[in-house]
This record gives sequence, structure tokens and C-alpha cells, in this order.
Amino acid sequence: MKEQPRSDLNTLQALRESEQRFRALVTASSDVVYRMSADWSEMRHLNGREFIADTHEPNRNWMERYIHPADRALVQVAIEKAIRQRRVFDLEHRVILADGSLGWTHSRAVPMIDDAGAITEWIGMASNVTDRKLAADAFAQQRRLYEAILTNTPDLAYIWDLDHRFIYANEGLLKMWGKSWAEAIGKNCLELGYEPWHAEMHGREIEQVKATKLPVRGEVPFTGTYGRRHYDYLLVPVTGEDGEVIAVAGTTRDVTERKQLESSLVEADRRKDEFLATLAHELRNPLAPIRNAVHLIKMRDPQDETVRRARDLIDRQLQHLIRLVDDLLEVSRITHGQVNLRVEKIRLRDVLDDALEVVRPSAMARHHRLCFELPPPDLFLTGDSTRLSQVFQNLLDNAVKYTPEGGEISLTAQRHGDEVAVTVRDNGIGISPEVQARIFELFTRVHPSDHIKTSGLGIGLALARQLVKLHAGRLEVRSAGAGSGSEFVATLPLDAFPVVETSEPSQPAGTVVQKQRVLVVDDNRDAAESLAMILSLSGCEVAVAFNGLQALEQIRIFRPDIALMDIGMPGMDGYEVAQRIRAEPSTRDLALVALTGWGQADDKDRAASVGFDRHLTKPVDPAELDAVLTLKRKGSEQKGSELFSVSGK
Ligand code: ADP
Repeated sequence: MKEQPRSDLNTLQALRESEQRFRALVTASSDVVYRMSADWSEMRHLNGREFIADTHEPNRNWMERYIHPADRALVQVAIEKAIRQRRVFDLEHRVILADGSLGWTHSRAVPMIDDAGAITEWIGMASNVTDRKLAADAFAQQRRLYEAILTNTPDLAYIWDLDHRFIYANEGLLKMWGKSWAEAIGKNCLELGYEPWHAEMHGREIEQVKATKLPVRGEVPFTGTYGRRHYDYLLVPVTGEDGEVIAVAGTTRDVTERKQLESSLVEADRRKDEFLATLAHELRNPLAPIRNAVHLIKMRDPQDETVRRARDLIDRQLQHLIRLVDDLLEVSRITHGQVNLRVEKIRLRDVLDDALEVVRPSAMARHHRLCFELPPPDLFLTGDSTRLSQVFQNLLDNAVKYTPEGGEISLTAQRHGDEVAVTVRDNGIGISPEVQARIFELFTRVHPSDHIKTSGLGIGLALARQLVKLHAGRLEVRSAGAGSGSEFVATLPLDAFPVVETSEPSQPAGTVVQKQRVLVVDDNRDAAESLAMILSLSGCEVAVAFNGLQALEQIRIFRPDIALMDIGMPGMDGYEVAQRIRAEPSTRDLALVALTGWGQADDKDRAASVGFDRHLTKPVDPAELDAVLTLKRKGSEQKGSELFSVSGK
């Protein structure tokens, strides 16, 4: 045997070792290993690593066997390019797996080139990238879904990085800015043309979200491509896996229309209140002379029975009308929180007695049995007795109205510690649970007039609850539903220390102590003349004036002790007349009583400030009229201004 030269032996040895290393490498790799003919027409060998099927014999249908039909053209193009350039084949494509399903591979093959420079074959490795590819696909899919939402939402969506730069802005926002993605992304608010205060505000908010990890909400006007609009925004933290804030995301909504609607609602509501107040005022004006006329007829005491009955009917209906008008006035006071209390120590029993007296006639007329269990006389409250009596009158009145004839109505008061619960119960038509939920809202009327013949504006309970609340109490309703009767419970705090009663006799009402000279001033002739007639019948000497100038003239000539003066007169109004009277030394002592249809707290304040001694609300209650007739000229006995606490209500 011919001996091999030493160097050849070394070369052979080196080759063998190299081959061994190559095989070890191939065996150690988890990748698919394959060999292709020079022109890739034939696959010579493939170790599929249980990822794809093995090939032990050369075959020419490898393309059909391994490559996904949709990617075959792609693979072919890449092969041709690699052959042409004699460079690495490198491609990610879909393959048919051993079990026939679809997978992804990243395949790389290098050409083996002989000494003559010709490609002899290709050696390739292909890794299984199915999981990564599917995850990336799922991610891209999800991104497309989010993009679809973010692009089509009418809201503006955006993300700031921790340096306050926009790293995302949706289509809507880009359009509102009038900028492209490239122009906007990477910029901060100031660079995007926000006014400095606005940019600084968002800067502070981003820092706040970063520091607190809590959302921030705000509303701001902004002028963009759609003009000046109002926006409502919410900024939230975006946190990384470690819980740290990595960005701040925001959504912004155009609320211009909503704000306009809101303000038009507020405006409509304001106009409604104004209308109700004006309506009540206008209704009061004609009521004043009618009330005076009824009072006059009473004073004349007609003998004819029919006339007496007619007079009483007018009187009853008038009282009703006055209450409705008063309720209307109250609405605007409640809505403006202008219900003022004249607070004093009051005995609960007296308040309930008053209320019972008022409703007794209507309860009798409907043949109701009225049961009551009045509290002991030593239960005192701090409050406004007229207002509290109004509350219980209203509850009792409702019980009378909403209970079919012959019903049973009870009024009880029970002390629980330092509170008292006053309950008005009836066995009437009851209130369903849904209605109970809104019964204390203004204008809630549940039984339209066809069902039960009642009158009312749906104000009483709203007012009652408000008044009880002003007394630091609560008003609640209970009813087992329609037909089961109703129960209203007012819980009020009691005075910790009952006051000791003073037994000072009160001034008897209705007596005119001396013959007074009274001037009546009102531009409504009927009102002025009817009031003048009542005053004459009461024994006063009376003069009448129909405007401010006439009033000043009469004061000079007639020299009255008291002037009863309407405030709202054309030309010189009552305030101005009063100011002139007070400014003139010869008339400044005159007792001045304001008459108005408003009865609002600020009217009273204003009347007091220009020098009126008292204030009466039209239509004037005859008893209150008697009370003011005891007024004296200033300086004679009492100072008139000290009496100003008496109200016309
Ligand atoms: P109104 O002037 O209509 O009586 P309220 O505010 O006093 O106004 O009452 C509101 C509505 O609550 C009434 O229209 C009536 O439907 C219902 N309601 C009030 N009290 C009773 C009651 N005792 N029984 C049944 N329904 C009642």
C-alpha cells in the first residue's frame, strides 16, 4: 500500500475533525438542517427535528411538500436572487408541518462553492418561529382593533411620555390640531401652539398623575381647527410591569353642545322662576281689593242670607286663591334658597294646634274623623312657628284631600330623646313606591284631576321638606302603596332647655286705640279705595292718593299719622316717596307702612333701608291691618323702626 505523504495525512485528519465538528454542531442545533442541489430543484436531505417531516432520499417535490402554497412564489423569488447573487438565502415564510398544519420558519442557506467557483450545493438551517410569529400576528391584530376604535371615536385620545411629549395622538386629535402625525409626535403642548397657561396646566396635571398614580379630570376651552370649543378631559396613568408610571394617557371629549344645552336649561329655568314670581305678583294685585271688599261686606254685616252665603263663598275661595298664589311665590324662594325663618322659641303644641284649626273645616266638610294626640306643653323647638305650622297644615291638608270622604286622619307627636317625630297619617289613596321616590320634588302631582278632584300645584311637599330641613329636621313619607293610606313623618330637634313661659298679656288685636289719620297710596284705584273704605269703617280718617306726587301733596295738606303705601307705582315709586318724606323735616315723623305684592325678603330689607316702619304683603290680612293702625308717629311713644320685624305674610 502506497504510503500517504505526511502533509496529506494531516490534511485528511483536519478534514475528518472538521466534519466531526460540523456533525456535532448540526446534531446539537434544534434547527432543521437541509441540503439542496445547486439550483434548488432537488432537496437532498432534510432533518425535520419533528417540526417538519424528514427527507432521507433526494426529492424534487419538496416545494409542494414543505412550502405553504401562498408563499411558494415568494420562496422562488428569494431562491433565484440568492443563486444570482451567490449569497445567503434568508427568508421567513410559512411551511407545512409534519402534522399537516401551518407553521412559520426562518430559513437561511449558504452556497457551497467548489475550487472552480461553481455552486455545488446549498446547506441550510431553518428555525421554528411559529410561536413568535403567531404572537406578533395576534399583537398586530389587536393593534388594528384598537386603532379602529381610536381612529373612529369622536373623542380625542393621546399619550404623553414622562417628559410631557406626545407619543401618540389619534386621528381625531391630529385633525383638531390640523397637524400630521410627523408634525405632532415628539412635541409638547407649547410646541404645538397651546396657550402658555394651558400648556402649563397640562404640565402640572401630568406631574400630578405621575406622583399620585390617580386620574385627573378637567374642562377647558380650546381653539383648534373647529374653532373655540369646550372640552372635558380625563388623564390616567399608564403603568409598566413594575407598577411604575411609564406614560400618561388622556381622552378628551367635545362638550360644547352639552354645555350650551345646560346653559339654555339654566336660562329656561331662570325664566320660569321669573315668570312664576311675576305671575304671583300680578295675581296678588287684584286679590288685594277683592279681599278688602269682602272684609267691607263683613263689616257691614248684611242681613240677607243669600248675600251672606255668597260673601262666605267668596271669602273661602279667596283664601284658597291667596294660598295658591303664596305657594307660587314660595317656589321662587325655595329655588333661590331665599326662604327666611323668623326664629324664636316656640311650643310645638301651639304650632300643631294652629295647623289643626286651619284644616278642621275642610276635614269636617269631607266627613273625616280627625284624631290627634298632641305633645305635652313643655316640648319646645327653636324655629319659625308660622312656617312650621304651614308644614303641618300642608300635610294635614293633603291627608284631607287624598282620602275619600269619611276617612280617618291622625296627627301624633312622639318624643325620641332630643327629637320629636310628628306623624300625619291617613287611610286614603296611598302612594306607590315609585311616586314616593319623587314626591318631594317640585311640581310632582300624581293624581290628575280626573281621578280625584283636588286642586294643587305640586309645591306643598317640596316646600314642606325644605322648611323642615331649614329647621335641621327631616320629612319622610311611608305608604304600603296605592289604597293603603299614607304617613308623613317630620322629625325635628327639640330644644335642650325648655324656656320658662312669660305670662305677659298680648295686645288685643283688632282694636284701634285712637282715631288715626291714614293716607292710602296705591296706583290700583280699586285697591286704594277699598282699603280706604275698610279704614273708614274702622273709625279712621282716610285720604287716598293714586301716585307718588299726589301722595306728597296729600301729606302736606291732610297731614296723616300713617301712610300705607304701595311700592310698585309708575313714575315715582314708593321707595322714592318714602325717601322724600324722611328727608323733609315736617314729615319725617310720619309712620310709613309699605304695601307690596312681592313679600320677598329683599323687598322688606329695601323698604326698611329707605325708612318704612313696617311692611305688609298684599293682599293685606285685616288682622295685620289693625295691628299697624296702632302705630304712632315717631318720637311720640315708640320708635317705629323697632317694630320692623312684623311681616305681612
Ligand atoms: P299638591 O298641591 O298637588 O297637593 P303636594 O306637593 O302637597 O302638592 O303633593 C304632591 C303630590 O303628592 C300630590 O299631588 C299627591 O299626588 C301626592 N300626595 C301628597 N300627600 C298625599 C297623601 N296624603 N296621600 C296620597 N297622595 C298624596
